[in-house]
Amino acid sequence: MGGLEMSFAKINDILEQWASFNPPLRDFTVDSVLNAINFESTYDYVFRFLNSKDGFEIELSRIYLCPNSHKAFHCSVDEEIDDYDLPTCHICGEEIMNDLDYSYLVFNFTDSYVQGVKKKRQMQQSLILR
Ligand SMILES: [Zn+2]
Repeated sequence: MGGLEMSFAKINDILEQWASFNPPLRDFTVDSVLNAINFESTYDYVFRFLNSKDGFEIELSRIYLCPNSHKAFHCSVDEEIDDYDLPTCHICGEEIMNDLDYSYLVFNFTDSYVQGVKKKRQMQQSLILR
């Protein structure tokens, strides 16, 4: 009992910390979160937890890799890629691999969440200095 909720609180703390970076952390993955909480939860739980914030605090998107493993193309999860007109890598110019095995899911903070965290941190700061 409670173990799971504890890790959710921990994840929220970590997200808040990452969002308060200047600039905020970008393109983090479920694995980055698992790492930060010392694997005290499972991939599935963290994924579902992050996903529940999709569109509110964070946004889920997909990065496709080119044959040279560059992070070549960023798109929303439900966006379809035109097989006859594949996007090319901005680093090496190769076409991306239109294959889910050559893509991974990433999360980014929404602007409103970043602003909210900034305000909260400023308020905490002013309470400390008082
Ligand atoms: Zn490339």
